[in-house]
Amino acid sequence: MKVQFLGVGSQFSSHEQYHSNMVITAPSGKRMLIDCGGDAKFSLAESGLRATDLDAVYISHLHSDHIGGMEWLALSTYFSPENKRLQLFCAEQLQDKLWNNSLKGGLECLGERCMQLADYFDCHPLQDNGAFAWQGLQFKLVKMPHVGGECCSSFSYGLLVEQTAQKDQVFFISTDTLFQPELLEKLAGQVAAIFHDCETTRLKTTVHAHYDQLCTLPASVKDKIWLYHYQPGSGYRPLDDGFRGFVVKGQEFSFPPRAA
Ligand SMILES: [Zn+2]
Repeated sequence: MKVQFLGVGSQFSSHEQYHSNMVITAPSGKRMLIDCGGDAKFSLAESGLRATDLDAVYISHLHSDHIGGMEWLALSTYFSPENKRLQLFCAEQLQDKLWNNSLKGGLECLGERCMQLADYFDCHPLQDNGAFAWQGLQFKLVKMPHVGGECCSSFSYGLLVEQTAQKDQVFFISTDTLFQPELLEKLAGQVAAIFHDCETTRLKTTVHAHYDQLCTLPASVKDKIWLYHYQPGSGYRPLDDGFRGFVVKGQEFSFPPRAA
């Protein structure tokens, strides 16, 4: 199993970082895109991939750096010579909103017929904190608090990923979350790696874990953490602070790790 980071940046990132979307390649060679931000067509191309090279897509939440490329993905696959229909995995609470609040305006009308989300994707709505199997891998949804306030709140669904045949090779992707130290301490004992979103600006937005907060974790937890979704030029030195490092755009991880 491999995980490649197409990008490592935030909503505001340019082509130098791209949005924090990833491709998981199963032992079978099938590929799942983890989130599809507005720049996904460029970040995929930089990794040598077309929309039709994908087999599935997982959506963690509805911010545009995670779904802004979904109209492009739907149309590129629908109008491909093979009329490919990717599997779409997403929490059931998000799926209606994904269509009605975000995609319907651009995708509903094709002239000769009115379309639905299921015309473009093979939809798999998932229960809160549910799980699904795909190509010999197990995915468990972990509901993460992302944006909260007096009028509304929203969650992002992180993923615990396990290769069925090698149960010691598990990793966690936080997607977008506030700082959750108790959860991270629990997960660190179960996983080979944690990929965690990380804000590195001086101005703290209160929708992501900040580097300074993640620094307060025990050394044994930080030793599992790779940081992504950061801003460049922060001056932070993650190796000195006990983390595994900042993930760089295009970086690929293998589970189990390749022999040196
Ligand atoms: Zn977000």
